Amino acid sequence: MAKIIDGKKIAASIRSDCKIRVEKLKDESGVTPGLAVILIGEDPASSVYVRNKIEACKAVGIKSSSYRHDADITTDELVVLIEKLNIDPEVHGILVQLPLPPHIDMERVLETISIDKDVDGFHLYNVGGLVVGKMVFSPCTPYGVVKMLESENIPVEGQNVVIVGASNIVGKPMALMLMARDATVSICHAKTRDLAQFTILADILVVAAGVPNLIIPQMVKTGAVVIDVGINRLPNGSLQGDVDFEGVSKKASYITPVPGGVGPMTVTMLLVNTIEAAERHAVQK
Ligand code: NAD
Repeated sequence: MAKIIDGKKIAASIRSDCKIRVEKLKDESGVTPGLAVILIGEDPASSVYVRNKIEACKAVGIKSSSYRHDADITTDELVVLIEKLNIDPEVHGILVQLPLPPHIDMERVLETISIDKDVDGFHLYNVGGLVVGKMVFSPCTPYGVVKMLESENIPVEGQNVVIVGASNIVGKPMALMLMARDATVSICHAKTRDLAQFTILADILVVAAGVPNLIIPQMVKTGAVVIDVGINRLPNGSLQGDVDFEGVSKKASYITPVPGGVGPMTVTMLLVNTIEAAERHAVQK
């Protein structure tokens, strides 16, 4: 049976370090880390994510401020708001909750965020930085996966890593971050022919497709490490990942549950990035 990687526990331990870092920063430089969260429209899932982020900030001593606007806000108005936050010395991180309404120019919005405050890591500079290993901030979900592997002492160097899902926010940055750690990385996506011929080779399998039960035991090598990023809400309201947890946990050496796996790590890495941004700001003061 696979060992379950307890994302909640790892996240709790990183969050208690965060609390200490925040207190130290306040004592030594008088700076309180500040995160501005922008939410556009009424998407219920986004509202829940934003609420979780704000609560997580509060628990470690980060001062969060939320900016909620109706879905009819224009790109120009959003850009003006971000420009104001860019020069606000009490704001060290700016997060725009995605997805944005379709009429908003998302690229322009993300590119307006100051690189030093781009704690989600979605600015083109940070995306490009991932390619050459010079990013200012790592995107939170793949960063959380890396921290989970580290905390279980799972080696990455030289391992065959297969990533299922090639999105800009999970799959692609995940691939780059593990390549930077000298893994041999393959990326699969919806157009991949015969997914199983790739997944069966994985020493470490990271799944972020958004398809419940996509990965079944026959697709997994005995002893593989399986990281399930997927979050799918089933008709009965429960959450499920992309991996057949019951079946695959009999074959894998490590597996992450859903919920309680990668999810809590994502918010935690947002806290880490925000504190890092504030620490850099304090040094420059
Ligand atoms: P996305 O829809 O932007 O991308 C999905 C990717 O999976 C695409 O590259 C697509 O080609 C691929 N894919 C879809 N069906 C496939 C199939 N049958 N076989 C192989 N590949 C397939 O999604 P995303 O934003 O990257 O999110 C992926 C999943 O991860 C979702 O369930 C999302 O809710 C979850 N997620 C979780 C966290 C977290 O904190 N745990 C964070 C972000 C996203």
